[in-house]
Parts: sequence; structure tokens; C-alpha cells
Amino acid sequence: MSKKIYLYGNWKMNNTYSETEKFFVDFAPAYAPFKDADDLEVGIFAPFTSLWPLSQGAKKCGIVFGAQNVYYEPKGAFTGEISIPMLKEYDVTHIILGHSERRHIFLESDEVIAKKTKAVLDAGIIPVLCYGETLEERESGNTFTVMERQLRSAIDGLTDAEKAKIIYAYEPVWAIGTGKTATPDQAEEVCAWSRKLIGQPKAVILYGGSVKGSNAKELLSMADIDGALVGGASLKPASFLEIYTAYKA
Ligand code: PEP
Repeated sequence: MSKKIYLYGNWKMNNTYSETEKFFVDFAPAYAPFKDADDLEVGIFAPFTSLWPLSQGAKKCGIVFGAQNVYYEPKGAFTGEISIPMLKEYDVTHIILGHSERRHIFLESDEVIAKKTKAVLDAGIIPVLCYGETLEERESGNTFTVMERQLRSAIDGLTDAEKAKIIYAYEPVWAIGTGKTATPDQAEEVCAWSRKLIGQPKAVILYGGSVKGSNAKELLSMADIDGALVGGASLKPASFLEIYTAYKA
């Protein structure tokens, strides 16, 4: 069997409740031919307000699903936040943490992301832990220093079993939503380096940053890239699933 590909869609702040229902009207038949593929795992991450129709659609299709953020405290005076117990009632299986938009627009610190990672693991949910450098950091030769800080702060102190449970997503900030993609060699270099730093040879490591049908095959064929975290191209069933078909072609 060829390697298993993880195809995860991050909708960001897109798709209302009704738009999510409509998405699944189109997604269900488009996904049907791939439903039994044992080398593919599809996941979708929606805004909190769309989690109910996402959960219904995802369960019918047999894909994993989750939220794009969560707070680490279980309840209390944290106006505007959403807790893990709240998400558990929607049966979410995965939660994206540390996305660069959370780090850079909402100023989430490594410390907060580490607390979220531990709380999500403790709840039996899989964190999809994002990390990656900005263009400035890459150009000043700091790519690996920055990523080491981001990764170590989240995983140091976790058990090997916990580290192995996390799904890691290397997302160079300069490639997210910009149409610029890391070259397969650039992406592979970081993913291979990450695997060593994590210390778990079988860790699942995704690449994210303007992945689409036209660049999927070369990126997903790299030895240390286990799949893609996809923003823009995940909003339409055809462009999302095309990433897998292009890889297989
Ligand atoms: C993302 O949102 O994580 C992402 C990689 O976005 P895009 O595919 O649009 O670059």
C-alpha cells in the first residue's frame, strides 16, 4: 500500500452554518468514490458556529472534523472563549492549535499554545499543531531557531505517547494564502528536521501553504510529508479532493 495521505481543510473564517450544510450537499457525492480508500484521511476544520452542520456532514461521510482553536481552561470568566468540554459535545476529534493567524494576528504566545496542546491531549482530542517561520525569519537565517522554539515550547514535557499523538503542520507563514508555495525540497527539509526534533519517527507531519491540485503531487511525494493542511483550496469540494487525485495520478 502507498503511504497514507492526510488531507485536512482549514476553512478559517469562512462558511456559515447554512453554507456548511450546502458544502456537504456537494461534498458527499464528490467524496463517495474515495470513502473506502485506506490511504486517505480527510478532515475539515470549521468555525465554531458551523460545527453542528460540520459534525453531521462529516459523520455521514466518515471524515474527521474539528475546530480551529480552543481555550485551555475548562470553564469560567473568559468572555468570548470556547472550552474543550463545549467542543467535546460536538464530538470533535481534532483541534487546530497555533495556526500562524492565531500567532500573528491574535498574538497567541508559545506558552498559551503549549497549555492548549496539553489540555487538548488530556481531553483525548488530537491537536493539529501548526508552526512555521515568517519571510523575515527565513531571510535572516532564523528559520530553524524559530521553529525549534515553537515546537519545543509545545512538546517538551510531554510523554513520547503524547508527542506521537499530535499531528504536526509545518506552515511557512510566507506561503499561507499567498499563492507562494515552498518548493518540495524546502518543505521536505523542514519536515525531515522536525521529525528528528520531535523524536517520533512515525509522527504525522503535514505541509501547509497554498497547496492545490497543481502542486500536490510533488509536495506529497516527499518522504517526510504525510499530507497537507489546506486553506483556500478546501472551500470547494472539487479543489479540495483534487489534491488527493493529483497526488495519485
Ligand atoms: C492554512 O490556512 O493553514 C493554509 C495553508 O492556507 P492556504 O492553503 O490558503 O495557503
